[in-house]
Amino acid sequence: MRKPFVAGNWKMHGSKASILSLVTDLNSKISELGNVDVAVCPPAIYADFTKRTLSSERISVGAQNMASEPVQGAFTGEVSVEMLKDMGCEYVILGHSERRSIYGETDVEVAAKVKVALDAGVTPILCVGETLEERESGTMEQVIAAQLDAVLTVVGISGFNNTVIAYEPVWAIGTGVTASPEQAQEVHAFIRNKLAQLDATVADRVIIQYGGSVKPGNAKELFGQADIDGGLIGGASLDAEDFIAICKAAG
Ligand code: PEP
Repeated sequence: MRKPFVAGNWKMHGSKASILSLVTDLNSKISELGNVDVAVCPPAIYADFTKRTLSSERISVGAQNMASEPVQGAFTGEVSVEMLKDMGCEYVILGHSERRSIYGETDVEVAAKVKVALDAGVTPILCVGETLEERESGTMEQVIAAQLDAVLTVVGISGFNNTVIAYEPVWAIGTGVTASPEQAQEVHAFIRNKLAQLDATVADRVIIQYGGSVKPGNAKELFGQADIDGGLIGGASLDAEDFIAICKAAG
């Protein structure tokens, strides 16, 4: 049985004051959490502050991106995986569609980062998903397969023993438009079946989150689908009450 996992992607939001307020609210509700793993992913510069403000290890901390260089060096502006670990991060979101579309990260670059994270013992949350144009032109499965294949080429199927996948249809991120539970389940099953062709055990165990305008009102139905194992939550993760409600819908 897979244990559901819900992660909050705070994106480029927050200040020490607002994070203190959000985490204080989360702390007051941690005891309400059931059978679900939970993480929050603040901007990297606030990871340590977030970790120290959380009252319990019950909520883990993750980052939203990292350098593709495995060791420290002359890479101005970058943050290494070891630095993330040092600041208490157990997870790192990689290949988020905003990284891919705004910063031009390619499938190959994302795959390289997945390997660096795995080698360092930080769990990647690998985002995959199609744009509306890709869905409408019928290339959705090819796009997602290519995103997965790039990672498989570098880390093999065994890399997915320690990788979380987040299916995030780009057209549903931050738009208020959610994939229907059936639409999401169809893609989740496609992803799991694709991995099962290489290793059925790995495929059966891998956590596949859904992300894209998940709210307390739609979470239960989405998470009730056979291949949806929790969610990657953007906007709603900035509100403690909404985020905890979504976590409770998962487990
Ligand atoms: C995200 O950015 O990963 C995301 C799912 O955002 P939202 O929940 O706001 O659509």
